[in-house]
Amino acid sequence: MLRTHTCGELRISDVNKTVSLTGWVQRTRDKGSLLWIDLRDRYGITQLFLEEGKTDASVLTAARGIGREFVLKVQGIVVERISKNDKLATGDIEIKITSIEILNSSKVPPFTIEENTDGGDDLRMKYRYLDLRRNSVRENLMLRHKMAQQTRIYLDGLNFIEVETPVLIKSTPEGARDFVVPSRMNPGEFYALPQSPQTFKQLLMVSGFDRYYQIVKCFRDEDLRADRQPEFTQIDCEMAFITQEDILHTFEGLVRHLFKHVKGIDMPSVPHMTYADAMNFYGSDKPDTRFEMKFKELTSVAQGKGFPVFDGAELVAGICATGCAEYTRKQLDELTEFVKKPQIGAKGLVYVQCKSDGTFKSSVDKFYSADDLKKWASHFDAQPGDLLLILSGEKAKTQKALGELRLKMGDLLGLRDKNKFSALWVVDFPLLEWNEETNLPTGQAGRWHAMHHPFTSPKPGDLSLLDSDPGKVRANAYDMVINGTEVGGGSIRIHDRATQQLMFTKLGFSDEEAKKQFGFLMDAFEFGAPPHGGIAFGFDRLCSLFGGADSIRDFIAFPKNNSGRDMMIDTPSTISQEQLKELSISVNDLKK
Ligand code: ASP
Repeated sequence: MLRTHTCGELRISDVNKTVSLTGWVQRTRDKGSLLWIDLRDRYGITQLFLEEGKTDASVLTAARGIGREFVLKVQGIVVERISKNDKLATGDIEIKITSIEILNSSKVPPFTIEENTDGGDDLRMKYRYLDLRRNSVRENLMLRHKMAQQTRIYLDGLNFIEVETPVLIKSTPEGARDFVVPSRMNPGEFYALPQSPQTFKQLLMVSGFDRYYQIVKCFRDEDLRADRQPEFTQIDCEMAFITQEDILHTFEGLVRHLFKHVKGIDMPSVPHMTYADAMNFYGSDKPDTRFEMKFKELTSVAQGKGFPVFDGAELVAGICATGCAEYTRKQLDELTEFVKKPQIGAKGLVYVQCKSDGTFKSSVDKFYSADDLKKWASHFDAQPGDLLLILSGEKAKTQKALGELRLKMGDLLGLRDKNKFSALWVVDFPLLEWNEETNLPTGQAGRWHAMHHPFTSPKPGDLSLLDSDPGKVRANAYDMVINGTEVGGGSIRIHDRATQQLMFTKLGFSDEEAKKQFGFLMDAFEFGAPPHGGIAFGFDRLCSLFGGADSIRDFIAFPKNNSGRDMMIDTPSTISQEQLKELSISVNDLKK
């Protein structure tokens, strides 16, 4: 190599060694008689210095011609620094330069390559290769590398086989839109990019692979949010001859292995919570369990006292915010405004301040006596100094709104510490959910959708409800939730043709349609399909969670922006008339 050491390597024990270093110029400081250069590579920064009268004049001249981000090869002697820098691993030493070779020059970068860069998002996306020179972004990718390595170590140790599945496939129904690719050789026909390798991994179980995994790119054409990218990566897994408990046990093991080997954290075993409990106590199927603040239902306690809002409600429920009784009018108004925002959707907020002198003050004093409020407080186990926040209305909507309020209070009270991790399994999801907005081919408004996907098996005991009360059927489906984020989800699958066919019928597929789209899978089920199930983890999301960040973008080397655009290579982009013609796509069909 052109270097003897990296820029992060030299220590006091290396003093007097003659070394060669290569790297980028972080900055230079010219004090006239002395000149310093900070040289950076991915391993660290080393300080170089040159001295008027002592350093060769031609070397000094060369050094004075360099600027930020020039690429250098230098030679010199390691010396002990007079003023040491304890923030730098190499801060005890510096290099007395004897020669400088400029390997390449650099234009002035469009933003500073420093922790607190002056570059905005768009600029950094356009010059992503420069952004990747910044420590924090590089460290995120190193964390990602470690996560992938440790995932492979764990799964390989359990006999999982990594198998690649195709990228040019046909539509998989994971609930999002497909990205499609026109086929030149089959005019008018298209491939779809996989939303996940779901059907392939199931077929691998039919083939007898028994334990499969893949760290794999998936594609979903959805509206983007901070934690979504059109292409993203899953740790995709499937096992045969297992029960749901086996899957939960195996993949709880994976997550604990990652915490242990990537973050040095010993995670306790992961508790299970039913979907019903998650909704009833946290108003969310992905509760943040870093803090308690569980919902308490107040419906029967609070009704019948003449307060029309509560009397007409399907659910009255609330949370107890510890130590918040002294919230000011302004703070309480802000909370009311918060729950009334359209995305939260509550009509108003009722509060009860449990004063430290044992008295109560509420926004419904007109309807409820001190005795009533005392009863509520004991229902909540509230102590003097606590604040009760209560919502009411239709059950599902109230739960959701109260869930948002709970998270807001968690934020306000500093209970959502990024360095604390709380994982749980949410189990017993409903099999189906009703969607008003999609129609059946017959024109009938609304239809049942698979909550996870159509290959998920119903709980055997609930099968009889499929006709009478489809919304009540529970699935053998589970999600892993960490700190209120769904990091993975999966299910035990259907593995016989008749049940799979029945499922498609319930979802409104005609026999013909089901056969056309998924005939290959149902055929395979007739050739000795073993019982099987699996899970997929959102790898980008898992990495951002481990890295303590909200967005997955900085854990992806070359991400897209919120409009699905890669600002650096400037795509999506038009293609030539020639290419369009070859693909049998009529130019007139296109906007641009
Ligand atoms: N294919 C599913 C998904 O992408 C995961 C699974 O059921 O294994 O969410």
